[in-house]
Amino acid sequence: MKIVLLGPPGSGKGTQAKILSEKLGLKHISTGDLLREETKKETPLSKKIKEILDEGKLISDEFVFEILKQNLPSDNYILDGLPRTVSQAKMLDDMVKIDFIFLIDVEDEFIVERIVNRRMCPKCGRIYNLKTNKPKNDTLCDVCSVPLIQRDDDNEEVVRKRLSEYHNQTEPVLDYYSSRLIRIDGEKPIEEVTQQILSKINRL
Ligand SMILES: [Zn+2]
Repeated sequence: MKIVLLGPPGSGKGTQAKILSEKLGLKHISTGDLLREETKKETPLSKKIKEILDEGKLISDEFVFEILKQNLPSDNYILDGLPRTVSQAKMLDDMVKIDFIFLIDVEDEFIVERIVNRRMCPKCGRIYNLKTNKPKNDTLCDVCSVPLIQRDDDNEEVVRKRLSEYHNQTEPVLDYYSSRLIRIDGEKPIEEVTQQILSKINRL
């Protein structure tokens, strides 16, 4: 089975990809995984990645896709957040037949709300949410009793910027896939989102 899983940053897409890959025995392929695996090898591509990273530059989508093409298994995988552009989606269609294309659909406001209310324990790493998963004491970790912190990136400005980048880049991909796109309500709890996906592929 070949699955493409798309969704905005903060939609829980990565979490779902991980759960599904375990439940269905699929290889979970994300941009981060691809880069990490490739840099472990001694190839012309891995050398180039290291050069780009050493210079502190960003790895382009084209380059990530190049690595994907060279590492795509023949079957049984879930692509997490790939393809990122219409030309990549077309290239992918030329290479393989994807069985299911899912969009974890979540409103921007829901993501902003979730992220600005996120707090973390600096000691144990436990994640809380001031609205949906409150600590017993508003400011302290339930386990360690140390003050919770808000990560620098978890602010509205950063989140909205990321969401707008996502929309600019991914809307055309969603349009390209429109007839095959299966929308999943991503505003439900994690288990329910997984169940929705599994029911679509008849694996409940
Ligand atoms: Zn703690």
